[in-house]
Amino acid sequence: MERGLNTRCLHIEDEEGDCSHYGALTFPIYQTATFAHPNVGDNTGYMYSRQQNPTRENLEKIVAQLEHGTDAFALSSGMAAVALLMELFRPGDHFLVEADLYGGSIRLFDHVSKKNGYTFTAIDFSEASIEDYIQENTRAIYLETPTNPMMRVTDIARTAGIARKHGCILIVDNTFLSPYFQNPLTLGADVVVHSGTKFLSGHNDTLAGVIVTGRTDIAEKLRFLLTTTGAGLAPFDSWLVTRGIKTLGVRMEQAQKNAVAITEWLLAQSAVKKVYYPGLQDHPGYEIMKKQARGFGSMITFDMDSEEHALEILRKVKMIKFAESLGGVETLITYPKTQTHADVPEYIRLKNGITDCTIRLSVGIENIEDLIWELKQIFDRF
Ligand code: PLP
Repeated sequence: MERGLNTRCLHIEDEEGDCSHYGALTFPIYQTATFAHPNVGDNTGYMYSRQQNPTRENLEKIVAQLEHGTDAFALSSGMAAVALLMELFRPGDHFLVEADLYGGSIRLFDHVSKKNGYTFTAIDFSEASIEDYIQENTRAIYLETPTNPMMRVTDIARTAGIARKHGCILIVDNTFLSPYFQNPLTLGADVVVHSGTKFLSGHNDTLAGVIVTGRTDIAEKLRFLLTTTGAGLAPFDSWLVTRGIKTLGVRMEQAQKNAVAITEWLLAQSAVKKVYYPGLQDHPGYEIMKKQARGFGSMITFDMDSEEHALEILRKVKMIKFAESLGGVETLITYPKTQTHADVPEYIRLKNGITDCTIRLSVGIENIEDLIWELKQIFDRF
């Protein structure tokens, strides 16, 4: 019998009963750069921490298991993970990407990947017929679902079928839902990438990135690339993410409960023009979400009726922090125009629906009464 998700966040199945590390319940932090060899031509399984470190490896095993993959790679940030993935390809390769992505991923593709000879077609996957945009040299389809920040939803299984038919790989950024709510690999994706800074670590206290795959050919290349380029996650940061994952389920459930309540509250405010939350029955991706995910998450994007009101919220929040990032226990509010998507050209930003009035909320696990009370103090003035 497969163990439940909360259990798998706490226990690695194949190490059950293992009494190494003196029986310690928490995996030790192997804070070392290198490992002594017992003999010439012999080693302990570890040589140098850029290649692998036991604390990082323990985290990788946990995330691989949660995502139903065979191999995982922990890196120093989500962007380090996306950048490593791009090293799998060659000049001349083409990528079909969802147009609404985290601004940092768009910046990487526009300013680094293009320089390296890659070409991109960016479209709205929720509307366009993806297959029409596949080219002979398309090597990967890249998407987030739901997207950051406009919460667009893509059918992963359908897209995986298109990728397979055309001999390209499907990469899914699963940051917004985490393995607790969605497992793209079981739906046919080849690679999953996470900003581990967000829900996986969950406490706004460390940066991390994780790549997971079930394909040994891709895993072999990634292990070589990670060793060679050197952005593996440090032992202490690996330990922090491992600790964060222990409470992934309870955090995600509580934050989602709060997000549903805040969504309902926002819908009742006359100063709110539109709420983008995939758990709303009239969200265009609602049925797909129900089919492919176990929850709707705790990210909400909404449009205010004016830029002035949007900025007023950012100025007036106190307990809710006006800050970049998401997926932590504290509720954060973000202004995509000047923060996460500041480097995205204005016409693309506007085409994706990110206006001067758009605000993104990463709902945390505070008491819901306190969150709504704080929002109410601000909205009552509008
Ligand atoms: N992917 C998504 C969906 C994100 O939201 C982010 C950051 O906000 C990243 C990737 C990049 O992660 P990091 O900030 O850990 O580099």
